[in-house]
Amino acid sequence: MKKIAIYPGTFDPITNGHIDIVKRGLRIFDEVIIAITTAEKKHPFFTLEERLELIRTAVKDCINVKVDSFDNLLVHYAKSEQAISVIRGLRAVSDFEYELQMALMNRRLDLNIETVFMMPSEEYTFLSSTIVKEVASFGGSVKGLVPEVVEKALRRKFKR
Ligand code: ADP
Repeated sequence: MKKIAIYPGTFDPITNGHIDIVKRGLRIFDEVIIAITTAEKKHPFFTLEERLELIRTAVKDCINVKVDSFDNLLVHYAKSEQAISVIRGLRAVSDFEYELQMALMNRRLDLNIETVFMMPSEEYTFLSSTIVKEVASFGGSVKGLVPEVVEKALRRKFKR
């Protein structure tokens, strides 16, 4: 049976750290679904449509990657996609507490879905969507930290 994993997140916007995790996921799973949470509690800078489009362009050459969004409980969404696993990225100890809490809650909600934590390449361990937006907002370069399409989108948005 095809081993499918969900990689959920806000992806506001997608960075090379996220893509690093997707590629690592593909070494274990047959398919990785990058799934954007539609929850507005984080007040995303890019709209859902923009984020979907940016990710689709960024991963257009990756086979076995699907891009989607979901507005229900993660474990319900995972089940509806026949996924067996949820992938999350771990950068620093600071990620750990929240990630552990969420993984254990998801396990409680559905015992059959296993959360897998993956570490990105060292060069991306300091990288977050938040810091990328901050640097770009002051006109700083984020080259090499985000896909080219994201670099352009940030420049466009902050020029306004
Ligand atoms: P969320 O709001 O769900 O944390 P994010 O888009 O910030 O959404 O992150 C999605 C997932 O990707 C999380 O597991 C996060 O820890 C991970 N992640 C974010 N940035 C990086 C990075 N630079 N390297 C590895 N994993 C990352």
